[in-house]
Amino acid sequence: MDPDLGEGVVGLLKESDILLEGGKIAALGQNLRGYGAQVVDATGKIVMPGFVDAHNHLWQSLIRGCGLEHDVGGWLNACSTPLRANPLLTPTREETYAIVRLSTLDLIDTGVTTVVDWSHSFTPDFVRGDLQALSESGMRFVYVYNGANNPTVLQDIPVVKQTLVDPHPRAAGFQIGAKPSLPLTGSTPFEVLLALAIELGVKVNSHVLENLADLKDRPLEALGLAGAFGPSLILNHAIHLTDDEIALLADHDVRAVHNPLSNMRLASGIMRLPDLHQAGVRVGLGSDGGTNDTSNFFDTMRVAVGLQRAKHLQATVYPTVPDVLRMATLGGAELLDLGDKIGSLTPGKKADLIILNPATLNFAPRLNWVNQIVFNGQPKNVEWVFVDGHPLKARGRLVGVHPEAVVAAAEAAAARIRHDGIAAGTFPE
Ligand SMILES: [Zn+2]
Repeated sequence: MDPDLGEGVVGLLKESDILLEGGKIAALGQNLRGYGAQVVDATGKIVMPGFVDAHNHLWQSLIRGCGLEHDVGGWLNACSTPLRANPLLTPTREETYAIVRLSTLDLIDTGVTTVVDWSHSFTPDFVRGDLQALSESGMRFVYVYNGANNPTVLQDIPVVKQTLVDPHPRAAGFQIGAKPSLPLTGSTPFEVLLALAIELGVKVNSHVLENLADLKDRPLEALGLAGAFGPSLILNHAIHLTDDEIALLADHDVRAVHNPLSNMRLASGIMRLPDLHQAGVRVGLGSDGGTNDTSNFFDTMRVAVGLQRAKHLQATVYPTVPDVLRMATLGGAELLDLGDKIGSLTPGKKADLIILNPATLNFAPRLNWVNQIVFNGQPKNVEWVFVDGHPLKARGRLVGVHPEAVVAAAEAAAARIRHDGIAAGTFPE
């Protein structure tokens, strides 16, 4: 998956060894020797970079299966807003930890090694439970603190960045979540949070134009007037863009994240991925939490390819299989400005990689393994997951984890909140 080192767009190397040392990739090539090295025999298997999930809401495993009859506005009202509106329904620190723990393990199982957790940051306790689970997961993570214009949040943001995220060895960034809309007054939440992001030197991460109803807020105009355009701006969904707006994003090197499964489920629309690519906008792939319904990153890649083919009635439209593999790995890394550290198997980069076993009922026999990764791959093919050279999944099993206990803790949290929510009449039965 480094075109400079191997053949073709994905940089294919056959029968290669890979030497990991000190958490980094030390070398690629045949007959490598590492003195005292532990050997994982990957003969007949596929070694590739771990996936970069560029947009997720890890707490939303709590509301899996919720509001399937709604679009995004209805889904938010039914499934998410009640948890913020009624403090009794907001997950406690322990409940947040339990549910985020479940999500991190589900992501590791499918081969995600870096995740952007766009946390709704309901309370300072919620933030800490979320970060505790991210920290213990062993994954690389970017934490997005959903900002609000109130003193508690504005004070907590720099504290969390400086004490919990910056010092963490696997934290790959801190960002501020904020929603742009017109009118601007100089003191709207978006403007206050943008100023704080600039002060802290962090990226702003927004949901824009996910649904046609978002057009009324004129978010692109708001971003422009607020002076937010630039490489430090990440836009999730960005489905209903005009040609001029796509050119504007490209001119300012604004980054975007495609969440195809969520967009399908919520009847949101289909991102103009070929046009964004043509214009030169960097786009990564994301899971978008509860409305993605699955963490299976193979599904997400397959759907990103399939949606454009179905829309354009053309089998060669962007993204092709190599394109989507790049989007799911190096593309995500680049949009986070981490392209020099992760996203490909390149000497000097972090040892974040996965090993797939293709000798399974759903994957074999071999015809074109690159195509088969995207069109046949499943989490069960992911035998090994390494982050910083540490195995988080080994021989098909999550390392040091009792899934039954994790599921039971998440179930207890969900049951408590569902019970109290139904009692309060603000949560769907
Ligand atoms: Zn989202």
